[in-house]
Amino acid sequence: MPKTDKKLNWNFESSYLELPSIFYTKQNPVPVAKPATVFFNEKLAQDLGLDFLNQEKEKLHDYFSGNEIPDGATPLAQAYAGHQFGGFTMLGDGRAILLGEGIDPEGNRFDIQLKGSGRTPYSRRGDGRATLYSMLREYLISEAMFHLKIPTTRSLAVVATGEKVYREEVNEGAVLTRIAKSHLRVGTFEYARAYGSIEDLHTLINYALERHFPEKNNMENPAIALFTAVMHEQIDLIINWLRVGFIHGVMNTDNMHIAGETIDYGPCAFMNAYDPKTVFSSIDRNGRYAFGNQQHVGHWNLTAFANALLPAVAEDQEEAIKLAQKSVDGYQFKFTERYYAMMFAKLGILNPKEEDRVLVNDLLAMMQTHKSDYTQTFLALEEERELEGTLYSSEEFKAWKEKWENLREDKEASVALMRKNNPRVIPRNHWVENALDEAKTGNLEPFSELLEVLANPYGNHSDELKYQPIPEEFDSCYQTFCGT
Ligand code: AMP
Ligand code: MG
Repeated sequence: MPKTDKKLNWNFESSYLELPSIFYTKQNPVPVAKPATVFFNEKLAQDLGLDFLNQEKEKLHDYFSGNEIPDGATPLAQAYAGHQFGGFTMLGDGRAILLGEGIDPEGNRFDIQLKGSGRTPYSRRGDGRATLYSMLREYLISEAMFHLKIPTTRSLAVVATGEKVYREEVNEGAVLTRIAKSHLRVGTFEYARAYGSIEDLHTLINYALERHFPEKNNMENPAIALFTAVMHEQIDLIINWLRVGFIHGVMNTDNMHIAGETIDYGPCAFMNAYDPKTVFSSIDRNGRYAFGNQQHVGHWNLTAFANALLPAVAEDQEEAIKLAQKSVDGYQFKFTERYYAMMFAKLGILNPKEEDRVLVNDLLAMMQTHKSDYTQTFLALEEERELEGTLYSSEEFKAWKEKWENLREDKEASVALMRKNNPRVIPRNHWVENALDEAKTGNLEPFSELLEVLANPYGNHSDELKYQPIPEEFDSCYQTFCGT
C-alpha cells in the first residue's frame, strides 16, 4: 500500500504533545520477539474509522505489538502520580505507550495506547511487560462493560509477544491495544501539582476542559468547572458499577479517569452473593476497595483531585479551600440521589417517592442475610419466578414483595425499565477464569463464546441459565491479582 494512503488511514493526531514537556517522555515501544495476533476487534476498528485495518490483517501483529510504528505516530509515555491505597507516589506509564490520537467518524477523539509495550522512564523496577492472561482478561471484561452500557476504555487487539513474562510463575507475554477517550487521570493533576508549575496546572486544566467538557470551557472558574464535571462523571460511573455488581478492586487516584471511563482492569471482579463487603483482590486486605466502599473511595479520590487543583482554584488559598470544599461537599447528596434512582430502575418503580427508599434498603438487607445472588434476584423479580434459596421462602421477603408490587401500577412499563437495567448475563468470575484457562492452553473457543454472550447482556439467551449458577465455595477461594 502506498505510504500516503496509510497516513490518511491512520490520520494520527497528537494533541497531548502540545502540553508542557513535563507531562510525557517521547518513547517508542520496545520490539517483541515473535508477535502473533490473538484477538482483533474488527467491529471496534470499524466504529473508530480504522476499517482499513480489517484489510491489513498481515500487518496487525506488527502494529499492535509495537514492532512497527505506524506512519504519523509520535509515541510517548505519559507522566502521572497518584494515591495508591492512600499513599502518594510518582507513577507514569511504566508499561504503556500512547501511539497517538484518532478521530472517529462522529468526530470524537480517542487515544490508541499499547499496554505491555516495554520499559519506559517510568517503569521503576517493573519489566514493562504484561501477561497474555491479564491482557485477555482486560479484553473480555472491558468489552463486557461496554456492552453493559458502562463507560469504559475499549480493547482493540491482543497480540502475543512470543516472550516469557516472569511473575509468580512463567507466563506468555502479550500487548493489549487500549482505546480510551484520553488517558487523563486524577493522578495526572496530582502530578502537575506536585512536580509542575502553576502554569502547567492551568494548562492541564484547560486541556482537559477542551478535550472532555468543551461546553464548560468558558466558565468563570475553570478549575471548579472541571472538578464538578469530573465529579458528576465519576458518580455516574460508580453507580453503574453498583448496578451490575462490578468491583474495580484498585480504585487508586491514578486509575480514576477524568472523563469517567472505567480504566485499568487489574484485580476487578463481579459480585455474586450480595454483600457490600465483597473483595476479591489479593492485596486489598482491609477492604478499602470493597464493593460497598466504592462510593466512599470515589469521594476520597475526588477530595485528592480537589486538593491537586487548589492552586488553580483561587490565588488566596483559604478562599480556594472554601470553594473546593463546597464542591466536594456536593458529592454525598448527588450520589445518594442518583443511587436510589438507579435502584428504583432496577426494581421497575417508575414514580418513586423519597420514602420508598426504605424498600431498596430492606431488600438489600435481606439479600445480604440470605446471601442472595445479586444478578439473579433482580431477574427473578422481573420475570416473576421463584428463586432457589432461603430469601424467597422467608415471611419477611413475602411482605416486602407485596409492598413492592403495590408500587408497580403500570406493569408493562415497569418490566421494560427493569429489563434495561438488570443484565441477564455478567462476566461471572468462574466463566472468565474458565475461558482464560482454556486460552492459556491455546483453545480460544470458550473465550470467543463468552465474548459473544457478553455482547448482548440485556437480551435473551437460549442457554442463559448456564451462566448463572456459582460453583460451591468458588467465591470464598477466588482471588484476583494486580499488575500481572
Ligand atoms: P496499575 O496497577 O496497572 O494501575 O499500575 C500502577 C503503576 O505501575 C503504573 O505506573 C504502571 O505503569 C506501573 N506498572 C505496572 N506493571 C508494570 C510493569 N510490569 N512494568 C513497569 N511498570 C508497571
Ligand atoms: Mg493504573
